[in-house]
Amino acid sequence: GSAELREKPRREEEEDEEAVDAMRVCYQGFDPAAYLQFNYTPPRADFQRADSIVPWKLACLHRAFSEGDMQGEVLVDVGSGPTLYQVMSGCEVFGRVVLTDFLEVNRRELQRWLQDGSSSLDWTPYLEYVCQLEGRRPSASSEKAARLRSVVSDVLPIDVHRPCPLAPGTIPANGADCLVSCFCLESVSPDLAVLTRALGHISSLLRPGGHLLLIGALGESYYLGAAGLRIPVVPLDEAQVCSSLKSSGYQLLQLSIYTLPAEMRVGVDDVTGVFFAKARKP
Ligand code: SAM
Repeated sequence: GSAELREKPRREEEEDEEAVDAMRVCYQGFDPAAYLQFNYTPPRADFQRADSIVPWKLACLHRAFSEGDMQGEVLVDVGSGPTLYQVMSGCEVFGRVVLTDFLEVNRRELQRWLQDGSSSLDWTPYLEYVCQLEGRRPSASSEKAARLRSVVSDVLPIDVHRPCPLAPGTIPANGADCLVSCFCLESVSPDLAVLTRALGHISSLLRPGGHLLLIGALGESYYLGAAGLRIPVVPLDEAQVCSSLKSSGYQLLQLSIYTLPAEMRVGVDDVTGVFFAKARKP
């Protein structure tokens, strides 16, 4: 019977679901404008500084998409939040970009920028910086903004804790050609086992042979999702990132680590570093 096939005793499954529900409840207080202010303004987004965190992330993404091994039509960004930086390179390579988030407030924030350019954060310096990485003039940023608006086809609800995180029929049946996910899995999961399970769920959205670009926090136990709202995070180390990817069947192509300089520790979290992984689903 099904009892023998169960991987975990029912008690543990129920405890996992309660812990996952508690995370969902935490997110009800998430404030997109505050989150953007905390993480996506200087010093963390200082384009004059070589050691600032956002330029590092943008350079990793740029490099990954320039290597010529990622091809296809559809890119899905998992847990986009209120941010657009993570698809600014990929939007030049893929013809259709799907943004996703669990929260309606975040999806609305993204829709506003897509519709009329209004948003809680000015993305222009980001667009300019990525244009420079691509060897274009910073003034090409308006072309990049137009490109991004034309290729984003949807902003969809997602829940990485469901075996099928997206509503059926929203992306091609054989899966996306590329998945991007930044600071999502570790900040929505109660522990490493649930994080690894969620990685398995999102992998079902990727076609065999497709690529995953995973960016996330190292050594982080909480971050502020709004003023005074501490959201718990699974503190990860490099080895756990690698073993989680391996147990989901990925072939790790590249892993880069950024260590946070003291000046970037501004009290909005206790992150010590950031990882960037490029992996391929066999
Ligand atoms: N990707 C953005 C970035 O790089 O800044 C946002 C990351 S933010 C730390 C985590 C995001 O996960 C939030 O936007 C939140 O709404 C979303 N989220 C919360 N619960 C989720 C769930 N169960 N499934 C998918 N995303 C979830």
